[in-house]
Amino acid sequence: MSFETGYTLRCLHCHTNYAINEAGYCCPTCELDGALDVLYDYERIGAGFRQDVARHDSFDMWRYRSLLPIAPDFRPALHTGGSPLYELKQDGGGRVLVKDDTRNPTGSLKDRASALAAALAAGQGFDTIATASTGNAAAALACMSAASGLRCVIFAPSSAPREKLAQMRAYGASVIEVEGGYDEAFVACYRACKENGWYNRSTGINSYMSEGKKTVAFEIAEQMQWQVPDRVFVPVGNGCIVGAVYKGFHELYKMGCTDRVPRIMGVQAAGSDFMYRAWRAGTGPNGAEARPARTSAGSISVALPRDRIKALRAIEHSGGEFVTVSDAEIFDAVTALARSCGVFAEAGAAAAYAGMRKWGGPAAGETAVVLVTGTGLKDIAGLLRSGVLAEGVEGQVVAA
Ligand SMILES: *Cc1c(COP(=O)(O)O)cnc(C)c1O
Ligand SMILES: [Zn+2]
Repeated sequence: MSFETGYTLRCLHCHTNYAINEAGYCCPTCELDGALDVLYDYERIGAGFRQDVARHDSFDMWRYRSLLPIAPDFRPALHTGGSPLYELKQDGGGRVLVKDDTRNPTGSLKDRASALAAALAAGQGFDTIATASTGNAAAALACMSAASGLRCVIFAPSSAPREKLAQMRAYGASVIEVEGGYDEAFVACYRACKENGWYNRSTGINSYMSEGKKTVAFEIAEQMQWQVPDRVFVPVGNGCIVGAVYKGFHELYKMGCTDRVPRIMGVQAAGSDFMYRAWRAGTGPNGAEARPARTSAGSISVALPRDRIKALRAIEHSGGEFVTVSDAEIFDAVTALARSCGVFAEAGAAAAYAGMRKWGGPAAGETAVVLVTGTGLKDIAGLLRSGVLAEGVEGQVVAA
């Protein structure tokens, strides 16, 4: 294995190692089944990592650049990452901390991955970057492309929420509506990128997206003075975020920056629970039947998660669990979270908090972190339809 280039790649399916110029977005042999792990020279970087991080003034995702696969010159100028970690007031039990990633340029954790994608594309001389997505990933990519002077093409299912489509267009992206769901959009994007030589950011093909997302784990550890929590609750759709959170904590542990890896708790909607079923069955990342997804939490509505290997590894290697929650529990968690600490999450994001409530919360002396991945402001229609706001939004109108 050579680290001359700063990092190396390993297929999570066939375990072959590659130098960076030997593989593209995923394993050349396993193709779409072969997600790559990006590996660094942990021994060299590890010794000085905490001091190196502390040298960077700005609290954003780029302070961890010694464990990111980019040349820093190409990063978009927008402040990305560096989100607050709040203590949730609650009666009894252990400590609950809320990592508020709604505080990103487009209101979701996806900005961490899209910022990295824009930096990678610009660094490699691409002029156009594309992705398939139903919402947050595409909005984030449209934004980061605008900030980086790249052309952005989005492949979105025609059923995608209007609010998120409007957000993409406001940033100047070309939005191509594809008949069908995410799977059809994914294929259309894959073909267009091949034909036109565009950079492809789609989750499930681009193995580098975990690298941007893992910075949220670095931040949590640094905000806790490198004392990691006992558990971290993460919402799971395609499984990229949960896999990345595990990778981030595991890298810190491997470098000796922290003394253990927290138990990673993956939360799925009951109507979109492929990972939960595969984990329970103990039959590996392909060990469950893909069923049509049925949940109003759009960002975690996935029939067959694309980052299955990384998601399963996160739970199994950390001693964590998958938890499922109903849509009713998810929407209750939206208001419970907003009312207890003032953080307004979209349904897919509030699922993490719903999962923690269902699981029972940390015992006295323990700490749990709830990862809030996206703002509620982009899913108002869904919130109103859920009925948890008894009065709708108008309330009582009083004549002046
Ligand atoms: C994308 C997304 C998720 C799920 O992340 P995956 O990587 O697909 O598992 C959860 N919450 C929000 C707000 C998202 O945008
Ligand atoms: Zn492979």
